[in-house]
Parts: sequence; C-alpha cells; structure tokens
Amino acid sequence: MLESRPAEVSLIEVGPRDGLQNETKVLTAEIKARFIKELAAAGLKTIETTSFVRADKIPQMGDANSLYALVKNLKGVDLPCLVPNEMGLDNALGSGVKHIAVFTATSDTFNKKNTNVTMKESFDRIGPVMDRAHKENLKIRGYISTVFGCPYEGKTSVDRLIEVVEFYLKHGADEISVGDTIGVATPIQIKSIIKELKAVTELKKIAMHFHDTRSMAMVNTLTSLELGITRFDSSAGGLGGCPYAKGATGNAATEDLVYLMHSLGIKTGIDLDLLAKASQYILGELGRETQSKVLKAYLASKDTTPCPF
Ligand code: MG
Repeated sequence: MLESRPAEVSLIEVGPRDGLQNETKVLTAEIKARFIKELAAAGLKTIETTSFVRADKIPQMGDANSLYALVKNLKGVDLPCLVPNEMGLDNALGSGVKHIAVFTATSDTFNKKNTNVTMKESFDRIGPVMDRAHKENLKIRGYISTVFGCPYEGKTSVDRLIEVVEFYLKHGADEISVGDTIGVATPIQIKSIIKELKAVTELKKIAMHFHDTRSMAMVNTLTSLELGITRFDSSAGGLGGCPYAKGATGNAATEDLVYLMHSLGIKTGIDLDLLAKASQYILGELGRETQSKVLKAYLASKDTTPCPF
C-alpha cells in the first residue's frame, strides 16, 4: 500500500474563511488575525484569510479589509481571499490581495440556493473576475462544490465537473479545489474522478477538499494520495460546515491530516503542537469543541488532571 507516496504535501488552511464563515458568533478582526498568525507560526504556508462579500450577506466576513490589513505582511505566507464578483475583486485589489478564490458548484440547485444562478450562469459572473485577476497577476484558485454529491440533487455529473475544470483552466486558474461539500465521497468515486481530472489537467493543479461528515475524509485522502494528489484543503480543529448542506459539519481537520501524513513519513512543514495551540485559541473564542479526533486525543494526552478513580 502507498508505494508511490510523495515526499511532501501541501495543506491549504481554510479555517479562517471556510471554517468561520458560518459561525454566528462574529469575531473581531484582531481575534481572526491572531488565529491566522498562529497558523502561520505552526507552519501553514497557505491560509485562506477571508471573503470580500457584503457584510449583510456574511457578517463574519464583514471586516475583510481590516483583517487583511492586519495579516498582509506575514512573511512567506500565501493569503487567498474569496471573491464572489467584480465588486468583491475591486475591494480585494484595494486591500492589496495577491491571491483570490472564485467558486461555483456542479449542481444547478445548489448554485441557485447559494447564488441564485445555474452553473452555466455562474460562469458569466466568474469569467470577468478571473480575467481581470489574471491581468493583475493575481494567483487564482477555483472552488468546485458538490463534486461528489448534492444535498438537493443527489448524484452529480462528472461531465459537469470537467466542464467547470476546463472553464477555470481557460480563465487562468492556478489551482482547482475539488469539493466534497456534504461529505459523501468514497474511495471508488475518487478513483474515477481523479482519472477524469488527469485527462484534462496536471494533478499538481488539483487540491482535494474533503468534509469528514461520515468519517471518510482520511480514507479519501489516502486514496487521493495514492493516485498522485499532493494538495489538500483542511481547517484547524475541523472548523466549518455548509449552511446549504444540512449535517455537513466539519471540513477535514488539519490536525487529522498532519497526523496521517507524518505517520506515513510525508512532510507537511507543520508543527502539531503549535497547530493545536492555534485551534485551541479559536475554539475558545467561539466557545466550541473540536471536530478533530487527533486534536481531541492530543488535548486529552496533555490533560494532567488526576483521574478521580
Ligand atoms: Mg469546506
């Protein structure tokens, strides 16, 4: 097993944006900046920072400009920001953002609930954003949701996935994040999807974005690794979920991925102690417990309270 594993992988931290955006307790920019700085100190090299959306749409992201200003000078850290439309891009450019992320889903119903357009119609919104970003020499990440299944439509089509991938590539995407939005992916599905992706792009441009809703994130990660994927999205402490996908609690946890990779001798550049510190900090601010089994075990092992029995 895993005869062809890579020497190292890249973990793209999505906690500060994907992880926090649906949290109803709105944190200050200072708290989020400290979280991002702690993640950087733990060794994360790509940290999705915020989303340049209207504050009335997603209150948690309403401070994008001030948050970005607090972290933009972090050395050696790439700080992608989600940009939903051209207005968001203007705003991001004004803040000095160097890396943007755009998004759509393979399911029309999911897109409609999320942004009120179909997949094809979303291209009209995203295309001009990507073209302008490309001209401005920004890095571009393209998210694709509902690749492995949709909460409304069930099974989704691989042909539509490839259509989005080709659209993103045509408009200059540097990286494409393939999302299991509701945590239904299985290794067999992953095998067939990676085969299709390989036919249209280099796998180094693909990042897998798993959710651990059904405890499949690690086995799906392992399957992807075996098939040549070396980039994975994850969130510290397993923060996040999806408001349009009921029960889809939790991105794959960065701690779980780090533990898995290190156990296989694969480098991540991440220090688990410092990562746990960052997660504990933000979970404390949110008043939440972690979804990460590795972090839970780690915290339990550090608990020196004498056993009452
Ligand atoms: Mg996610």
